[in-house]
Amino acid sequence: MKVGIPRSLFYFYYYPLWKTFFEGLGATVVTSSWTNRQTVERGLRTAVDEACFPIKVCFGHVQELCHAELDCIFIPRLVSIEERSYICPKFMGLPDMVRASLPNLPEIIDITIDLSRNGRTLEKDLLRLGRRFSQNIAVTRRAYRDGLAEWRRCRQWCRHGYTMAEAIRLWDGERITQPAANGLNIGVLGHAYSLYDRMISMSLVDRLRQLGCQVQVVENLEQAAVEAKAGEIPKRVFWTLGRKAVGGALLLDSQPEVDGIVYLACFGCGPDSMVGEIISRKVLSKPFMMLTIDEHTGEAGLVTRLEAFCDMLQLRKAASL
Ligand code: SF4
Repeated sequence: MKVGIPRSLFYFYYYPLWKTFFEGLGATVVTSSWTNRQTVERGLRTAVDEACFPIKVCFGHVQELCHAELDCIFIPRLVSIEERSYICPKFMGLPDMVRASLPNLPEIIDITIDLSRNGRTLEKDLLRLGRRFSQNIAVTRRAYRDGLAEWRRCRQWCRHGYTMAEAIRLWDGERITQPAANGLNIGVLGHAYSLYDRMISMSLVDRLRQLGCQVQVVENLEQAAVEAKAGEIPKRVFWTLGRKAVGGALLLDSQPEVDGIVYLACFGCGPDSMVGEIISRKVLSKPFMMLTIDEHTGEAGLVTRLEAFCDMLQLRKAASL
């Protein structure tokens, strides 16, 4: 069996788990390329106008996979990835949106992942999915556990300063060297699928590093501390990614070595409009900049804002010495 995984959305969180799981069941995993101009154009042509930029980009990736002679494409229906929390509803409808908009698709594997009531149902869901590939339950169970172990290994690398996308590239055998930082320390927040997709974010993280900044992203922080900080606001944020962004921002705000915080939001994103506002009101001791992007955002404008932000932080730092 050849299984396609779009290099978008939850690729940036769970690829090591899915890849190891499917390969453990004897399947060959094929991913689409990194997002490029053609991916974006394909996505814009076919996705509904109301969709946010990352969802449109995902459509472009699925179309690329349609040309790869696959048996199926894995597009899980993600409802929740942890108890008492949810993922944006666009993920729930993604398999249906793709089916409704794209002709001549291979089979779509759209298992529902909903851990909102019981965080342990993932194993059951994947064991059920595994039956389609192997009748041997022990093989499926091992594939699931190996997948989980590989995912945890990748997450561990993030504690050493890598973004999740870099950890995935390392895991896939690439060599990664980060430029040495010699100046500012900047916290950068946003959904991994926007932030680490270089076409969507216009290489935001790399640009800051090229400006000499040390970049801290939410995966670099201790997750228990992020959750504890997120718990300080009066009403619990029930979107998993939004809560991590709020907790990450508050934690970075409390760290003396951090000079400023940038939040990358997507135009038309419901959760971002709320979470960005919460962060801008709660981050009190550091300069904060929210960048909102979509498919029309110009690179020059983004670069100018980043450079101006860094210049301002440098001046502020110099003035405080
Ligand atoms: S959270 Fe926002 S950016 Fe992410 S899929 Fe939902 S609408 Fe799009």
